[in-house]
Amino acid sequence: MRVIVTGGAGFIGSALVRHLVLERGYDVLNVDALTYAGNRASLNSVEDKPNYRFLQANICDRGAMEKAFQDFRPNRIMHLAAESHVDRSITGAADFIETNVIGTFTLLEVARGYWSKLPDAEKDAFRFLHVSTDEVYGSLGEDGLFREDTPYDPSSPYSASKASSDHLAKAWQRTYGLPIVVSNCSNNYGPFHFPEKLIPLTILNALAGERLPVYGKGNNVRDWLYVEDHARALDTIAERGRIGETYNVGGRNERRNIEVVRRICEVLDRLAPANRPREELIEFVTDRPGHDARYAIDATKLEDELGWRAQEDFDSGIEKTVAWYLDNEWWWQPLRERYAGQRLGLLKAARA
Ligand code: NAD
Repeated sequence: MRVIVTGGAGFIGSALVRHLVLERGYDVLNVDALTYAGNRASLNSVEDKPNYRFLQANICDRGAMEKAFQDFRPNRIMHLAAESHVDRSITGAADFIETNVIGTFTLLEVARGYWSKLPDAEKDAFRFLHVSTDEVYGSLGEDGLFREDTPYDPSSPYSASKASSDHLAKAWQRTYGLPIVVSNCSNNYGPFHFPEKLIPLTILNALAGERLPVYGKGNNVRDWLYVEDHARALDTIAERGRIGETYNVGGRNERRNIEVVRRICEVLDRLAPANRPREELIEFVTDRPGHDARYAIDATKLEDELGWRAQEDFDSGIEKTVAWYLDNEWWWQPLRERYAGQRLGLLKAARA
């Protein structure tokens, strides 16, 4: 099995690459532009493996993508490269449109050109997994869950760009027959997560005794999935998902943001005691514009049809995650020097 993973130096991409190279023994070509979010240190455990290769390239670069396909001759592509942070998309959406929309379009065209010339048996076996987010569905009220047939209703520039890319992927399947499967996943957390997102930012600020910003009243609900469970789900969907279908991925672990932050404080107080409870560092700050109230995934289709199950619940996953950050300062310290948690995504800071 030869798999191209795009965005494999990012948070979820690196978990997927580690899984495919180390657990599955697949030949993997990681195609990543190494933006601020890409980090080769997340791939130390695979760097010297003979079944792993890295190509620094932009997915919008058609020539580079064509060469990657011709040289590596993949059976499968798992497309994760994206701009992924909602707050950054509010401050400046251009990179999100460029990578998430134009980049996905470029990959679809390059994959189509390559796939159309394959011998029949290889053509049948080829898969393009387009990896996306549950944020394309917009916001839920108090009740209900996102299902695969929930209408798209994105709120942020990020989720709108991902929704666009999902539509392109589905159209390329219906129009050209390119064997595409789409996955839409809830919020991930775990090791190697860039410290601009809620969970790693909270862990590292709390460890440093710095304030813990919580947007609004902290009542927004997210459905948390441990990143290694997501990597296993993506592997399963690419392997056995039906062409043209969407699979929602989620761990049935809904939590209000304030509960997440309090839980991290409790775990840290136990694993790395400080002079005073970390909860005292919580500070409620101006809410994110267009902040979706609640996300929650119905993963029944993935569970029943493909037999995937999340192995971690929120309590076990957050315990592992906090412990990982305590043990792996070598990984996050250089990132904290580059990005120390400055607030992004407030409208007064936005540019056209
Ligand atoms: P991330 O921001 O951690 O990593 C993105 C990676 O893509 C980085 O390594 C970056 O260098 C690379 N990249 C960005 N632009 C590129 C370009 N133009 N060409 C090549 N590489 C480029 O993102 P993540 O959190 O790992 O998310 C991965 C994918 O999963 C994204 O498509 C995202 O929309 C989706 N997703 C994320 C979550 C989540 O909770 N983080 C949930 C559901 C779905």
